[in-house]
Amino acid sequence: QSKGEGRNTFHYFTQAMNRDVERRQSVEEQLRGALSRDELSLVFQPIVDLRNARVVGAEALLRWHNPTLGPVTPDEFIPIAEQTGLIDAMGQYVLERALEQAARWRIDRDPEFWVSVNVSPQQFRDPGLVGIVDRALSSRDLPGQALQVEVTESVLLDERGQAASTLAEFKARGIDVAMDDFGTGYASLSYLRHFPFDTLKIDRSFVGDITEDPKDAELVIASLSLARSLKLKVLAEGVETEAQLALLREHGCDLAQGYLFARPLPAADFDEFPERSLR
Ligand code: C2E
Ligand code: MG
Ligand code: MG
Ligand code: MG
Repeated sequence: QSKGEGRNTFHYFTQAMNRDVERRQSVEEQLRGALSRDELSLVFQPIVDLRNARVVGAEALLRWHNPTLGPVTPDEFIPIAEQTGLIDAMGQYVLERALEQAARWRIDRDPEFWVSVNVSPQQFRDPGLVGIVDRALSSRDLPGQALQVEVTESVLLDERGQAASTLAEFKARGIDVAMDDFGTGYASLSYLRHFPFDTLKIDRSFVGDITEDPKDAELVIASLSLARSLKLKVLAEGVETEAQLALLREHGCDLAQGYLFARPLPAADFDEFPERSLR
């Protein structure tokens, strides 16, 4: 009997493995044509200035709806886009669409409105990245201040020289350089020393527990005080409750985004988004 069980376990295991492999293959196959079939779109999540409760910017987040697969989450398709090199074209699409929106919102909403774009490690390895960003800005007559670039630690892991000089080029143009998912990596502190960041985005896995877990609260409070002494702005991701917001404000957090304010929205709905008063 135990033999049979073992065989069954193995059987289920290989079945599950085959399913994963097949899923991965069909996602990759469909992703190759996603751009040309116009299946990608952007949503924008409002970023709120905690001093005055105003929406000052928005993070652009990629969405993919495929007729065969349905909606596929970025957590699933971005890594595949990275591995296959598709991320370069997709990243350029995100930049162009996001800046197009920024240009509109700077006219319609607020002349200082900015958009934030996630840039992945693979894009960073492209020596043409700075040129792509320059053209995307200048063709819309936008200054660097209209853009924030979010990078994760993994961007900085490999070619330290290349990444540092690209970040310096961004900074020279007035582009805000943000470290995304701060606190989840292994070497955040040493990167803060070596790279010219402007903003820390505290990962939502910490923010989610600050009112329940005293350790998470202490980590976030320590990050806020560290950031202040390094003259960095802090943005808290994933703010979902009033209690989290109150704690963050009490400790001097500058900016926030999260479901408490709004989910990521299509640009058309963003225009309707009401500014919310902070108590
Ligand atoms: P991220 O850059 O850390 O983006 C924030 C994620 O948190 C988004 O997930 C957003 O929808 C989600 N979020 C925002 N507020 C809340 C909240 O209050 N609660 C919870 N539970 N979640 C919240 P999304 O859109 O699924 O994106 C996941 C990740 O995929 C992003 O994490 C980013 O790393 C990557 N990604 C998305 N769009 C792009 C893109 O255009 N380029 C690249 N390279 N990566 C992207
Ligand atoms: Mg991000
Ligand atoms: Mg990110
Ligand atoms: Mg993040």
